[in-house]
Amino acid sequence: MTGERQVPFYCPYCGEENLRPADADAGTWECRACARCFTLRFVAIVRPLPRDGLTRSAG
Ligand SMILES: [Zn+2]
Repeated sequence: MTGERQVPFYCPYCGEENLRPADADAGTWECRACARCFTLRFVAIVRPLPRDGLTRSAG
């Protein structure tokens, strides 16, 4: 998972597409439109809850 790098298409603050990487390895991007710098970070894979988990706990 360390090799995956996601590229943001829009600035999360102003919505412009004028983004460029501020740091090559840290996933840091800077927006040329609003001059904000932000980091895109992977947190976790969220799995959906098992559907039979609720009915099983009742019995
Ligand atoms: Zn922006």
